[in-house]
Amino acid sequence: MMRVAEKAKSEGNIKIVEDATCTFCGCLCDDMVLTVDVDAKKITKAKNACVLGKALFLNYEEEDRPFALIGGKEATTAEAVEEAAQILANARFPIIYGMSDTTCETQRKAVGLMDMLGGTIDSTTSVCHGPTGMALQGVGESTATLGEIKNRADLVIYWGGNPAESLPRHFARYAVTAKGMYTPNRKKDRTIVNIDVRHTKSVPVADIFIQVKPGADFELLWALRALVKNRHVDPNIEKKTGVSMKTMKDLVERMKNCRYGVLFFGMGLTMTRGRHFNSAAILSLGSDLNEYTHFIATPMRGHGNVTGADTVVAWQTGYPFGVNFSRGYPKFNPGEFTATDMFVRGDADAGLILASDPGSNFTQAAVDHMKKIPMIVLDPKYTHTAKLARVAFTTAHYGINVPGTAYRSDGVPIELRTCLDSKYPSDEEVITAIYRRVEQLLIAKKRSKGANNKRQKAA
Ligand code: SF4
Repeated sequence: MMRVAEKAKSEGNIKIVEDATCTFCGCLCDDMVLTVDVDAKKITKAKNACVLGKALFLNYEEEDRPFALIGGKEATTAEAVEEAAQILANARFPIIYGMSDTTCETQRKAVGLMDMLGGTIDSTTSVCHGPTGMALQGVGESTATLGEIKNRADLVIYWGGNPAESLPRHFARYAVTAKGMYTPNRKKDRTIVNIDVRHTKSVPVADIFIQVKPGADFELLWALRALVKNRHVDPNIEKKTGVSMKTMKDLVERMKNCRYGVLFFGMGLTMTRGRHFNSAAILSLGSDLNEYTHFIATPMRGHGNVTGADTVVAWQTGYPFGVNFSRGYPKFNPGEFTATDMFVRGDADAGLILASDPGSNFTQAAVDHMKKIPMIVLDPKYTHTAKLARVAFTTAHYGINVPGTAYRSDGVPIELRTCLDSKYPSDEEVITAIYRRVEQLLIAKKRSKGANNKRQKAA
């Protein structure tokens, strides 16, 4: 496990941890200054954190819960590892799901476990920016780091997202009021555009707000692409999208004539009508604009390390989510190998949920199937999913108790500093123990199958 150098000063029972990282959202702000009461095991101050970051740190409390539960009864971690390994080794079509709130080191082990079992691995990407992962394979992307955007972007367009509430420091740290090398006057050096179906809390920071009719994002994106290429656009597009031709042409002129433009897009595009077509359209619009100026298009990611989940699964299998190993090589098929679909159809006969709570947000049909099959849950909290699990492990909290690596939403890896110890194991330790035991069980199974075959031949 990777460990970064401690950057902490202690005085009595008070410890100050500098440059800690908040893992609440994809901004992964790594400028936290945490004041820790070591005796009380509490974080008492979280300087630089936004309201969500403060909620994460200041409400942190290690719950006094059993290390593990088997069938609702208290068990040791070792007993739970044995039970979990037996479930997985005997399953015909197991799945691991979640992974967006844990370290890359754990995600890597989870991919190895499913590879060995010939099962399926999927992350929360499949219910957020999965369509973007699919679109990227088709049309590529023009991209940049958030640092480059902060220093250079003079036209920032938010489309189908509400960072004021979901990524609260996105404006101040990266794209609106941040002071950049070529944007020293902060917001005065930038034009901010917000495109959405409704008036969100992100709209007041924008210089221009364009309200598009629900379900018409693709049509608007395609019209903008046509206008960028000086093609004729049917005037009926105004009725279809609710956006006037004058507004579209004004936006196109701004996009072509800016020095450095960026399109940030959210789940308003990926989880509405059009899905991966919407993502492909906005990524293509960003690429098209490079004929005139420097332009990028990049998704805004919600969970702390959901970008890490995509990155790790992609570097190990070639695909970002929804990957199945039953043929002995990775196969990617969203809709077939994505968790919610596998549960709704009743395909999965065992599930391991890693740092996620699908029991609280999947469809009722998916949850009903999860109740019927043996589920294994690894989570610091006693979640809805943990309540319906056969085996529930209590694990330490990444970024507070556990060090490691997480990927910011722009794909930049950030090392996590710890500030408090935990009596619970990390999910990486639990997954590693399960992996080792499953390996032994599979070897034993193979040997006994071989011996049976020999006996049958001899008979
Ligand atoms: S913006 Fe996100 S990562 Fe940054 S402090 Fe707020 S919740 Fe944490």
